[in-house]
Amino acid sequence: MTPDTQVAAGAARGTRMARRPLIAGNWKLWGTRTQAAEYCERLPGLLPDDPPADVAVCAPFTALELCVQKLHGAGVAVYAQNMHQEPTGAFTGEVSAEMLTELSVEGVVLGHSERRLYNCETDRALQDKVPRALEAGLQPILCVGESEDERERGETERKLRNQVQEGLERVADDRLESVVVAYEPIWAIGTGKVATPEIAQDAVAFIRALVGDRSREAAERVRILYGGSVKPDNAAEILAQPDVDGALVGGASLDPKGLAEIVAAAGR
Ligand code: PEP
Repeated sequence: MTPDTQVAAGAARGTRMARRPLIAGNWKLWGTRTQAAEYCERLPGLLPDDPPADVAVCAPFTALELCVQKLHGAGVAVYAQNMHQEPTGAFTGEVSAEMLTELSVEGVVLGHSERRLYNCETDRALQDKVPRALEAGLQPILCVGESEDERERGETERKLRNQVQEGLERVADDRLESVVVAYEPIWAIGTGKVATPEIAQDAVAFIRALVGDRSREAAERVRILYGGSVKPDNAAEILAQPDVDGALVGGASLDPKGLAEIVAAAGR
């Protein structure tokens, strides 16, 4: 950490109580309308009474409307997994923020490493997508994280600094706290190789410090999640870290019972 980020990190610690955790299940390429309907019928009954975290499912575009209908009043928000930064135009195959809010979708995952890898998602596009989502009233989850090679070469902080600074560049200081950032080390996504609680805590604290370089208040309030092979049996340890404000869960969220157990773990 640079001296500035160290100071900001210290200032932002110890305020976890003020930040309500978020557990978001990322279905990725899963969920026909039939599967989504069954899932949404089961999930509410599996969640703890008075859940200790906000809960969201990030569904494919084709299932969003149905998920919103099925989960209405159940305390589970529906998020999309991507959106385009422009409201309209010659962008075949894309979906705008307004198309999502029209369906009462409440948030959107942006910059997931799989989209960066397979769909040429760039930090430059994210500079527009993140503020655009906020402007439209969507909760953006900005995903950042290093590859295994980058970690081995000691480049984790450099990578996180670039991604966080670029992704948040066009977000006004007084809106920073409204963004959710997800630290998702690429080597832990879908691999079963979960980060140790210490690695997750250090990286999330570093990201908080980067936000603190822009605004101390935002650093105290911004929610920063961990994502990467979170399962019911490892969630509690990671979620207990002081700077970790929840989880973005891929594979384990495809079973509503698994997602519900991870939600319960946020309260332990
Ligand atoms: C993800 O999709 O963001 C993710 C973290 O996946 P998994 O939990 O399967 O590693």
